Amino acid sequence: MINLYGMEMKKLQDLMVSEGQKPYRAIQLYTWMYEKNARSFDEMTDISLKFREVLKEKYCLTLPTIYKKQVSSDGTIKLLLELEDHMKVECVLMRYNYGCAVCVSSQVGCNMACSFCSSGILGKQRNLRPEEMTGQVMVINDLLREEGKGMHVTHVVVMGTGEPFDNYDNVMDFIRIVNAQKGLAIGARHITVSTCGLIEGIKKYAREGLQTNLAISLHAPNNELRNQLMKINKAYPLEVLMPVIKEYEEVSGRRVTYEYLLLEGINDTKEHAEQLIKLIKGTMGYVNLIPYNETNKNDYKRSSGNRVHAFLDYLTKGGVTATIRKEFGSDIDAACGQLKAKSEGTL
Ligand code: SAH
Repeated sequence: MINLYGMEMKKLQDLMVSEGQKPYRAIQLYTWMYEKNARSFDEMTDISLKFREVLKEKYCLTLPTIYKKQVSSDGTIKLLLELEDHMKVECVLMRYNYGCAVCVSSQVGCNMACSFCSSGILGKQRNLRPEEMTGQVMVINDLLREEGKGMHVTHVVVMGTGEPFDNYDNVMDFIRIVNAQKGLAIGARHITVSTCGLIEGIKKYAREGLQTNLAISLHAPNNELRNQLMKINKAYPLEVLMPVIKEYEEVSGRRVTYEYLLLEGINDTKEHAEQLIKLIKGTMGYVNLIPYNETNKNDYKRSSGNRVHAFLDYLTKGGVTATIRKEFGSDIDAACGQLKAKSEGTL
């Protein structure tokens, strides 16, 4: 059964044509799925009974189910969702004053094995299909609708478990569904993909012709340190990665965000700040400093508030724009880097 929540508009139009329908049928389906929130073909009353039977036979509108829901004192919601094969993934709703953002997972587990991150401990189990990513946003939207305050998801960040560019095509289909006017209608500038630095993905993403955002998990200003923290740096060291980021900025006309998490005594000294300034000076990107969320799986410590602010000052004085990431849901393990496959029972 093909799940229509995984079909971006062009593919759905082609599918409808292959069913002997007009391409317009795809727009009609999108309107029911994303605007009128129909959850079954039976509700789609302006589609002929006969074609509805065809749809029911070959296609489905299945969403992940909520396996576990945690609500933080700041309103952040973390969901553990169950997929059709009983694998589980997490997604997080964050409430900003400018809207509601969902942090979406792109894989079950992750193969990147960054030494500070919980998501990679078990390795990658499998890629998520587009409908399993759309499903994360849809389920959160349903919860917001139930709250009855007129809220809905306005921002999507692909920063949950997984490496999006290790699942490139599915993530791009998902982004097209999220961005489509008749789909989830979320503006491109409200959509961000975060990568640990898979250069082939960055190059392709630059050429998608989208106005979406790119975040690069940098975390270290030199190869020696980045090799220790992020295995991927051995494949794509900084002298390879940085020119690709420049190329991305030139081709797409968009600036990147550098994510830099601060680990006490590891990457948070004045010297590191100076190296970082030098490293990124030639690009237009700005730095988002992430206070590290400690786990009992490694010995890294979160930099103190003083050190975080000192680091921010060094960068600012060095002419680099930087901000400190706002934290959400730390009381329910929903903060950055805390998403993990708890369902496996090993964490
Ligand atoms: N694979 C992608 C996206 C998922 S990780 C990437 O690497 O960008 C999302 C972000 O959370 C990354 O910047 C990651 O480095 C960061 N992160 C991982 N563990 C963390 C932790 N314990 N505390 C804070 N941030 C963490």
